[in-house]
Amino acid sequence: MKDNLSVSIVIPVFNEAENLSELMERCLKACGSMDHSCEIILVDDGSIDASEDKIVEAARMNPGIIKGVFLNKNYGQHSAIMAGFEQAKGDIIVTLDADLQNPPEEIPNLVNQIKLGYDVVGSVREKRQDTLFRRMSSLIINKTVQKVTGVMMNDYGCMLRAYKRYIIDAVLNCPERSTFIPVLANSFARTTTEIIVKHEERHAGNSKYSILKLISLQFDLLTSMTTFPLRLLSIIGGIISFFGVGFGVFLMVMRIIFGAVWAVNGVFTLFAVLFILIGAQFIALGLLGEYLGRVYNDVRARPRYYIHHIIDKQENQ
Ligand code: UDP
Ligand code: MG
Repeated sequence: MKDNLSVSIVIPVFNEAENLSELMERCLKACGSMDHSCEIILVDDGSIDASEDKIVEAARMNPGIIKGVFLNKNYGQHSAIMAGFEQAKGDIIVTLDADLQNPPEEIPNLVNQIKLGYDVVGSVREKRQDTLFRRMSSLIINKTVQKVTGVMMNDYGCMLRAYKRYIIDAVLNCPERSTFIPVLANSFARTTTEIIVKHEERHAGNSKYSILKLISLQFDLLTSMTTFPLRLLSIIGGIISFFGVGFGVFLMVMRIIFGAVWAVNGVFTLFAVLFILIGAQFIALGLLGEYLGRVYNDVRARPRYYIHHIIDKQENQ
């Protein structure tokens, strides 16, 4: 790759006033240590503390390097990052959280991996400093994502990541609203890698994710990669009605052999009929799910495929 590459660092900010001074200082230092021109894009995701003033001041003191993007209200971390992507001009784009849990000093390492030829570079948090609940839920999610997407990344939750320009262009071309950027970006990548980074406690303030926001984020992640849960309805329905029919036949045979008293005067038969009906309902729901999944995929309007590059021999002759 040519070496006059430029780097854009995109940081979503939601009520992080206490972290911004140190964040800026450390990011600028990291930028200074690289031979690339850098821009730092701070996206204010509708903060109600002094974040806006801090960003304005930082942008004033570092013209051409620090840029502020201000959203009118809180849209969530991933939408804020998308807004930042839209303004980013770099050949390499790095995302980072504003709370200093992921050290900005790792940015040059991520950039180096991109220069080695990887399309996406993720990071794995060493000795993760989060609650047990957050760690456990992340573990389950990471394993599921690995299975479904087939991309062997170990830590989808860590937002310290670097992307090649073309990946960001492809991501920006997806008009979907609820999105989980690491999964979406990986779907356009040919080669990915991960580096291990230190993980620190939040520098100041509390996590900006309430339990409800966290659940909603996990659903964004799930729905951004698969419509399998909808298909699960048909599978469960099929199994229930299969057993219902089996149970019905079994009851009928037993009733003939042992008489009406054994079958509690028709109560068991009622159960068998119930099972079959519940199964039928599930199958019907599953059928709706199959349509819904397809409608969802079409509405989301992701590109059908993404051409990484083309070799046309005639061009070279
Ligand atoms: N964030 C945001 N909008 C939100 C929630 C979070 O821009 O609605 C930003 C936040 O300022 C931080 C990053 O997203 O830079 C990650 O948030 P946080 O550290 O609270 O998440 P956690 O580390 O708990 O996953
Ligand atoms: Mg954090």
